[in-house]
Amino acid sequence: PSLVRSAADDLERAAEAALRPRRLEEFVGQRVVREQLSLVLQAALGRGRAPDHVLLSGPPGLGKTTLAMIIAAELGAPLRVTSGPAIQHAGDLAAVLSSLDEGEVLFLDEIHRLARPAEELLYVAMEDFRVDVVVGKGAGASAIPLSLPPFTVVGATTRAGLLPAPLRDRFGFTGHLDFYSSEELERVLVRSAGLLGVPLAADAAAEIAGRSRGTPRIANRLLRRVRDWAQVRGDGTLSLAAARAALEVYEVDALGLDRLDRAVLTALCTRFGGGPVGLTTLAVAVGEEPETVETVAEPFLVREGLVGRTPRGRVAMPGAWAHLGLTPPAAGNTLF
Ligand code: ATP
Repeated sequence: PSLVRSAADDLERAAEAALRPRRLEEFVGQRVVREQLSLVLQAALGRGRAPDHVLLSGPPGLGKTTLAMIIAAELGAPLRVTSGPAIQHAGDLAAVLSSLDEGEVLFLDEIHRLARPAEELLYVAMEDFRVDVVVGKGAGASAIPLSLPPFTVVGATTRAGLLPAPLRDRFGFTGHLDFYSSEELERVLVRSAGLLGVPLAADAAAEIAGRSRGTPRIANRLLRRVRDWAQVRGDGTLSLAAARAALEVYEVDALGLDRLDRAVLTALCTRFGGGPVGLTTLAVAVGEEPETVETVAEPFLVREGLVGRTPRGRVAMPGAWAHLGLTPPAAGNTLF
């Protein structure tokens, strides 16, 4: 089963890669980050130097990887891709760093998951363009400083606050990606439909956009599912009716909440009577890491006004009960 799943994942990744914007001007939305980044890149190009290190933060699927690739493309620089969890030992990172070419862009996804020794090695490399290569073992070991050519780290994290301050401070520019508006997601969908060569009706684009959880990755994925439906059960056109029918088959709810979002809302309302409940307790109830609940599910639920964060914990807002079709407990029945 794991083989089958990874084959399916590969297909999804390939489908995603085909829809990736390649240049900054093709990148939809995120106007502020785009403008700031464009200045950083143009200035660096004008000076003929590698730009400052860039940190991108925001929930999954909003375009951090895409922007990293765009940064390299705009600079005309090669790109090396790795991630915090992929680097087990400081030595792995030292090997990557010492093989970088001048001006290369090093994309470090999930940078907040780097192990401490690798993180310390990274500070020095980012600041002084130097890495200390340890030769030998035990008492005879010695560190040989190796200077590195100028390069640019593009770090991505689901939340910049998870990074230790010394590492965060090494980035000259931090761009925070926020959820996309429906109108922006419509533009993403129209662009993707054009690339896929499928006819997408304007009202269908609006319907899909509204159920994409503010996330381009989800918008593109739903577009492919609607295309499947239109091909198999419809006449190939992505009409509003086709979009609605397909989204029903795939159980995408009106707000586009995913399994984790719904689990969090359901636990909050039914197990904890609407809260307040602490993040850790809530995470245990849905079988996830607190960090995942906090950085993956919560930002969208808070933005949609379904969940509130209070000093005493998370609370279900009226919209959460309504969305789940539940009746909130009467005011007099709660302790709060
Ligand atoms: P993760 O951190 O989970 O990898 P991410 O933030 O790096 O997520 P990407 O992989 O860059 O997200 O983007 C997901 C998909 O969404 C891409 O394949 C791309 O096609 C699409 N996409 C993201 N942002 C935009 C955008 N601004 N305009 C058009 N398409 C976008």
